[in-house]
Amino acid sequence: MRFWRTPLDQDRFHRPHGRVLVIVERCKGCGFCVEYCPLDVLRISERFNKKGYHYPEVAQAGVCVDCNLCEIICPEFAIYSENVSAEEDAGAPAGRQEGAGAGGEQGGER
Ligand code: SF4
Ligand code: SF4
Repeated sequence: MRFWRTPLDQDRFHRPHGRVLVIVERCKGCGFCVEYCPLDVLRISERFNKKGYHYPEVAQAGVCVDCNLCEIICPEFAIYSENVSAEEDAGAPAGRQEGAGAGGEQGGER
């Protein structure tokens, strides 16, 4: 989170860690998730899904705070985040994308 000053009670709060998952074949490339993510975790991929849309991918691994804003704002229910523990986070790959298969989901980022 970007602050204009460091909060005096910042050490009292735990920063959550999230892993973003994209269901690639549902995405219609509107870019809302990329535009409104408060931490600029996402970017539009150069790749296309089967419908011909550029879908989002993780630009900054390890930055997501699992705020779920991308999930709430997506009109196609094509992206979501899940909370990960610090231990899991340390060993996890940098991102994840789902859905190459028939309605399936594949992994991604954090
Ligand atoms: S949950 Fe989504 S909107 Fe929130 S920080 Fe992570 S990628 Fe960004
Ligand atoms: S995942 Fe959802 S919000 Fe993001 S570009 Fe695709 S359709 Fe738009």
